[in-house]
Amino acid sequence: MLTSIDEYARRLSKVRSAMVAQGVDTVLLSVGHDLPYLTGYTAMPLERLTMLVLHVDGVPLLFVPRLEAPRVAEMPELFEIVPWDETVEPLDLVAAACLGSSTIAIGDQTWARFVVGLSHRLPGVRWERAVGVVGDLRMRKSSAEVDALRAAAEAVDAIAAELQSGQIPLIGRTEAEVSADLSQRILARGHEKVNFAIVAAGENAASPHHHPGSRVIEADEVVLCDFGGTMNGYCSDITRCVVTGEIPSEVAAAYEVLMSAQSAGVAAGQIGVRCEEVDSTTRQIISDGGYGEYFVHRTGHGIGMEEHEDPYMVSGDVRLIEDGFAYSVEPGIYIPGKWGLRLEDIVVATPEGPRSLNQADHSLHAVSA
Ligand code: ZN
Ligand code: ZN
Ligand code: ZN
Repeated sequence: MLTSIDEYARRLSKVRSAMVAQGVDTVLLSVGHDLPYLTGYTAMPLERLTMLVLHVDGVPLLFVPRLEAPRVAEMPELFEIVPWDETVEPLDLVAAACLGSSTIAIGDQTWARFVVGLSHRLPGVRWERAVGVVGDLRMRKSSAEVDALRAAAEAVDAIAAELQSGQIPLIGRTEAEVSADLSQRILARGHEKVNFAIVAAGENAASPHHHPGSRVIEADEVVLCDFGGTMNGYCSDITRCVVTGEIPSEVAAAYEVLMSAQSAGVAAGQIGVRCEEVDSTTRQIISDGGYGEYFVHRTGHGIGMEEHEDPYMVSGDVRLIEDGFAYSVEPGIYIPGKWGLRLEDIVVATPEGPRSLNQADHSLHAVSA
């Protein structure tokens, strides 16, 4: 997505309104996605400090190592670039720019060495998390952001269809080989980055975040594939399972329950409903089906510039779903030592009801590849 300067300016002013409302004098953003959300620039996750200093008014200052300054797309309407030299201690510069601030909100992914260094330089400051002033805004996707998420979803849907139709060879290959194949397809379909490509066969599928390894996929196994990447700055994330042969009746029975839980979870995401209700909806159906103890994770997570971001579809997340919330609905059933099943779509809340961005077939396919 090519975000316009106007859009960045709108985001900045909304963040500043939230700062005023919450009594935050200054926001400090470094590694993580809040910085690119507001400026288009992604800090390198290295030891040299990159930090945006955003006060309630005045020009925001982006402190960057001088050697990285050429990476920053200049937008003087939005922020001023302040390159720092190798022999300077950049925390001193940031601390000086924060003098007079009594409440500072700092990004979640800022390295501890910088947070600790700043807290020593700025005694008496009250520290908060920047997610409090940026997060709410990031949860509500604009129509351009939804378009970007949809384009990414369509790209992985096409790969899921290739998997389901047997165009991606499975039997005789290792999980790692299939993972590399999925990764190539993610890039070939227009993503700039692969974020993960989980391939888990047989009993490995019972581990929800299995790391694909040297295990060879055999005939008559469940193969769980959960993959996604970043396309034009926004993430895809989909899970589909296939069986390399005939579908055993116990797997078919569990999948029926999973599929109805997932679709009910999607349908539950109406504006004004608590996020945790999406979770309780899928969990109830899976429990009623007799698999409650085998559903070992939350139902979903928000998605946008990050694969996992606020809100979370989990008991205790009482935030009310708003227009533009984008999140996964991905219940699973995992039988240790045997097999695992998960079904995942990305959903956007709209005034007309929840819209699934993923359209890949939801049924469990038997493949002979
Ligand atoms: Zn996951
Ligand atoms: Zn996933
Ligand atoms: Zn997910």
